Amino acid sequence: MDYKFNDEQQLVQETVRQFANERLEPVTEKMDSEDYFPMDLFKELGELGLLGPTIPMEYEGAESDYITQGIILEELARVSPAFALSVGAHSNLTVDNIYRNGNDEQRSRFLPKLASGEWMGALGITEPGAGSDALSMKTVAKEEGDYYLLSGSKTFITNASIADVSIIYAKTRPDLGAKGITAFIMPMDLKGVSTGKPFDKMGMRGSLTSEIFMDDVAVPKENIMGSVDQGHKIVMSGLSIERATLAAISLAISKTALDIALKYSIEREQFGKPISSFQMIQEKIANIYTETKASELLVYWAINEVQNNHRSNKEAAASIMYASELSTKHALSSLQILGGYGYTKEYKIERFARDAKLLEIGAGTNEIRRIIIARDLVKSR
Ligand SMILES: Cc1cc2nc3c(=O)[nH]c(=O)nc-3n(C[C@H](O)[C@H](O)[C@H](O)COP(=O)(O)OP(=O)(O)OC[C@H]3O[C@@H](n4cnc5c(N)ncnc54)[C@H](O)[C@@H]3O)c2cc1C
Repeated sequence: MDYKFNDEQQLVQETVRQFANERLEPVTEKMDSEDYFPMDLFKELGELGLLGPTIPMEYEGAESDYITQGIILEELARVSPAFALSVGAHSNLTVDNIYRNGNDEQRSRFLPKLASGEWMGALGITEPGAGSDALSMKTVAKEEGDYYLLSGSKTFITNASIADVSIIYAKTRPDLGAKGITAFIMPMDLKGVSTGKPFDKMGMRGSLTSEIFMDDVAVPKENIMGSVDQGHKIVMSGLSIERATLAAISLAISKTALDIALKYSIEREQFGKPISSFQMIQEKIANIYTETKASELLVYWAINEVQNNHRSNKEAAASIMYASELSTKHALSSLQILGGYGYTKEYKIERFARDAKLLEIGAGTNEIRRIIIARDLVKSR
């Protein structure tokens, strides 16, 4: 079994690969050293029509599919996993989410500006006290006339400090627990919204991650996404799409780890020979290659499963769990092949190793993913 992309998907792959190599690569060092997000490049991606791959053209989308979304994230992440992460939070968590769960009026109001890159999007589920147990969130939304007043805070929100719009989940019926959550589309310029200074992270630098504080923010009722108290369903359906497509970032890290290891090991000589001729180096290269190929099949298979059924929970969880653990291993293995040079910034593999770890944590940790897989399997018996 292999994945053959169709003509349209291959064209997207070539376009993004060229964009990543020519436009993104030159700023990756600045992104990492200064935690700088290249907003101009984000907008360029919008002009290329690549920020709304899964939504219809009438909303400035590309009317394509989740495989295309995976291809875009993979090609960006071959050069910058951090840029891909921010694009994923925008295109997938915000744009695709509003299209799937918003009404026609909300689609017309928000999607063209988001998909064209005029606006940037974010999504806030996680709170300081509610991470893996996300549905235990404490942010509340109290009904008042034509508005809901949102109070509370979100943390670790990708793009928060530079977003124009954020999807925020809040408890409209705290007494109902997980069943009393509602999703709101919250413009970030509303009175009472503020964001923290971006976290100084180990990796994924340049993808800005911040807290969002809400102090009686009046969000109009017309910005409720889906039905009141039904937000938990939106959270759950979105998580599988998010996991399946984000796994493409891990896959990209494995591929880049292999590229860097191969190039270096052929050029580097010790004991009068290229180190690629040493069997212990060959073992590492062969393992990265084989496991990356397995990861590739799993990643695109799971995206396809999610395309057909948004609730493909175990498939999406398995894909990102496997791909993320391998990408951390592959980045470190490649770094080892580069010896002392791998430990410097010059060869870039240390950045990919730092970036790789995030995919084992974000969008639900690998422990939670294992729980989802086992629970679904047991339930199906
Ligand atoms: C860079 C970055 C970007 C992010 N972007 C976003 C975003 O855009 N939007 C958003 O809403 N969130 C975002 N997150 C948050 C992310 O989803 C959470 O960090 C993640 O869900 C884990 O929550 P936590 O950090 O509170 O860890 P905790 O839930 O406190 O977990 C701590 C440890 O306990 C383990 N654990 C917890 N429960 C169990 C259990 N039942 N069984 C076994 N082990 C368990 C976990 O696996 C982990 O190892 C981001 C995080 C990071 C780091």
